[in-house]
Amino acid sequence: MAKPGVIGFLISTFGLSCPRCRKADLFYYPVLRFKKLYKMKSECDYCGQDFEIEPGFYYGSMFISYIISSFFMLISFGIIKFAFKLDVWTTFGIVMALLVLVYFYVFRISRSLWIHFFVKYNPKAVKKQ
Ligand SMILES: [Zn+2]
Repeated sequence: MAKPGVIGFLISTFGLSCPRCRKADLFYYPVLRFKKLYKMKSECDYCGQDFEIEPGFYYGSMFISYIISSFFMLISFGIIKFAFKLDVWTTFGIVMALLVLVYFYVFRISRSLWIHFFVKYNPKAVKKQ
């Protein structure tokens, strides 16, 4: 059952669900299936919400991705550098390797956050026939 409010928003955003009904997925496959990682549905299976609201809608999500990646790098750099007392270049290499590992999840979270900013939650939303 989809939850309303901030908790529901966070669960829906990080769970990569439709922002309107919060029941169906935004992407065809889970990120760990490594299959068509970029492939996004054109509309919601449950409520029919259009996921490509206008041409180039997801350009803005690149800024979200940039912010998330930057914070991820800063925080992981700090933790690795001071917890393991490694030199700067080794730490940088590890951080870059970690960033490659989380890249697709960051990509998806950015798109999910972006569409969640623009589409309001409507628990009664159903697909029109
Ligand atoms: Zn939906």
